[in-house]
Amino acid sequence: MSPTPPQKPERSEPTIGKETPVPSNFIRSIVEEDCRTGKWDGRVATRFPPEPNGYLHIGHAKSICLNFGLAADFNGTCNLRFDDTNPLKEDVEYVDSIKEDVRWLGFDWQDREYYASDYFQQLYDYAVQLIHKGLAYVDDLNADEIREYRGTLTEPGRESPWRNRPVEENLDLFHRMREGEFPDGSRVLRAKIDMASPNLLMRDPTLYRIRKASHHRTGDAWCIYPMYDFTHCLSDSIEHITHSVCTLEFENNRELYDWVLARLDVYHPQQIEFARLNLTYTVLSKRKLIALVENGVVQGWDDPRMPTISGMRRRGYPPEAIRNFCDRIGVARRDSLVDFALLEFCVREYLNRHAPRVMAVLDPLKVVIENWPEGRTEEMEAVNNPEDPAAGTRKVPFSGTLFIERDDFREEPPRKFFRLAPGREVRLRYAYFIRCTDVIKDPDTGEVVELRCTYDPETRGGDAPDGRKVKATLHWVSASHAADAEVRLYEHLFAEERPGEAADFLTTVRPDSLRTVAAKVEPGLTGAEPGSRWQFERLGYFCVDPGDGESGRLVFNRTVTLRDTWAKIAKKTKISG
Ligand code: ATP
Ligand code: MG
Repeated sequence: MSPTPPQKPERSEPTIGKETPVPSNFIRSIVEEDCRTGKWDGRVATRFPPEPNGYLHIGHAKSICLNFGLAADFNGTCNLRFDDTNPLKEDVEYVDSIKEDVRWLGFDWQDREYYASDYFQQLYDYAVQLIHKGLAYVDDLNADEIREYRGTLTEPGRESPWRNRPVEENLDLFHRMREGEFPDGSRVLRAKIDMASPNLLMRDPTLYRIRKASHHRTGDAWCIYPMYDFTHCLSDSIEHITHSVCTLEFENNRELYDWVLARLDVYHPQQIEFARLNLTYTVLSKRKLIALVENGVVQGWDDPRMPTISGMRRRGYPPEAIRNFCDRIGVARRDSLVDFALLEFCVREYLNRHAPRVMAVLDPLKVVIENWPEGRTEEMEAVNNPEDPAAGTRKVPFSGTLFIERDDFREEPPRKFFRLAPGREVRLRYAYFIRCTDVIKDPDTGEVVELRCTYDPETRGGDAPDGRKVKATLHWVSASHAADAEVRLYEHLFAEERPGEAADFLTTVRPDSLRTVAAKVEPGLTGAEPGSRWQFERLGYFCVDPGDGESGRLVFNRTVTLRDTWAKIAKKTKISG
């Protein structure tokens, strides 16, 4: 019953910078055509059907945007349906997180929140109907035997010795399965299709199994649970779905989807498959994501290094950027591998317009301005967002003791290093020109611990009246005014571009995917809203960690750097943008 494994994906080359809001795709074309011909009376009804056995990830976002997007664009509806048929792996924690994530992404299922478990009685009745029609039977083979009897791609399967049980006996046994008379694994209900079918899924697939386990919604009401292939098509049918959109690995399941609905002679939606999202430096299989959480490789499902929606939210990715990414990658029928850099490009593009600029120093080096009047503080006027004039300006305190980025100073500057060095003059953003006059070192280690500088009072605001130029502008904070912040610097979790292809993907985890630094930030950031997003000038975009709201500490997660690696990739592969 397991879907066919995805093929090794080609790297895709999505176009960027296109003006079309939502590029068309083959699924939209089908829906358009159906609306034109009145196939479903002009109705469009889709659904997003997660199994509540893990948190949603960016691949699910693609499916959510597609399903809810089709409904929105064709004046239809999209249901949120929990495909909750496996009590051993499912949990309300997952149900709650899925609802939160879909909502956060910006989609609304209104009152259409459905659960496959709500259909258990109906599904049972449908199974009984199949038995009556001689199309299903109770099999006493165990799981190993069933596998053995199934045959292979090159050999037909063998029929179970129980395959030709009389209808009455099947009805009786199925009823007793439900009543809990038999232990787990002792019997199953199977569809009676064709043990020689070239499609292995059609070789008498299992429809029901015994699982004496409590279900998070139905409790102990049931001890037999329907399998995915039986549940999914009938849930779609019950909800009068028109277009049942799913990922390519279910292509072979379509024959079974159609078989069940046709044999029961019920409302019959159309299943359409599209290619799932694969991202570089990322795994998107739930099994692997669970392993990361359970092995403590990350700190939880919402760890900002996780490709989960909750991880991305915590990392500071805006929902608009994720939706934009999903539009850009498009929907195709062939598996592809999308560059993580494209997702980061979308995040940066949104934040560039919306995140206010502030100054923060991640690796502080003390600067004392020797000719600064003792005890004096000046308020410098700083622009909040040059991309958004409406964002206005703010005041940033400047004094005689500052911090600059350690990396912005070199005692012996190499060629092409234009920032601060002994004797050299640079501009401090929104403030003055300063010149380095002396370097103070730790006598034991030789480490530079402080710079002595002078400032030119004539250069307030950043320009010299005599027209002399400087080659660099540095960010800074005033030492006595700055707030302390913990800043978490994230890198890809995996060292390999295709970690999922490694023999053991856990061995490709980078040891340095999280680095924490003690930073100094503008005093205005004190009390910044959890989840709020900022550009630290020259460094990147950062988000106040929503998880540390109560501690009173200021903690930032780096959302993305300012380096646009996508532009480089796009250029190399001749993609417009
Ligand atoms: P697993 O990782 O165990 O295969 P799943 O991710 O398919 O599980 P579901 O909860 O069944 O988990 O997925 C819900 C919906 O999201 C399905 O319709 C599925 O096709 C879709 N989906 C899952 N992964 C992706 C992906 N990478 N790209 C696009 N759609 C996806
Ligand atoms: Mg699935």
